[in-house]
Amino acid sequence: MELFKQPDAMNLMWYQCKKCEKREKVWNSRPRVTPFSIGCPDCQDLMIHVDWHLDIYAPNHTPQKGDRIFIDLSEEAAEKYYIQFIESSWDDDEYPMSKNFNTPKEALENLMNDWEFGQPTIITFSPKDLDDVLYTEDRFRKALENLDK
Ligand SMILES: [Zn+2]
Repeated sequence: MELFKQPDAMNLMWYQCKKCEKREKVWNSRPRVTPFSIGCPDCQDLMIHVDWHLDIYAPNHTPQKGDRIFIDLSEEAAEKYYIQFIESSWDDDEYPMSKNFNTPKEALENLMNDWEFGQPTIITFSPKDLDDVLYTEDRFRKALENLDK
């Protein structure tokens, strides 16, 4: 029996920046939907999911180091991820988190209040993310293990 396939599930999709027109292929490692827009790594504007007809269902895709992919985070992994994010963004030149929150602890509480399992998180893939990638479809896990450490 075929499982019900959600739109976007395990797809490779094109995103394009509204401002600088950078195009990027992003893989969804999860059997769930993805956001319509994501941040552009070059100009920080919005990248939009475009060319839907070019979406490819790719459950066996192997992400390369440096690719951006959507993953699910466990609550524990989400907290770890957010702490790193807060540390790196607290005194950011352009978008300091310290402008919006009184303390890093307050920022973390705020982020964790909004956290919910199944929400996509976009990461730049590297082997150190192994533990945080919850979707452990066998081939995907094998691909992760085979990456240079
Ligand atoms: Zn851009």
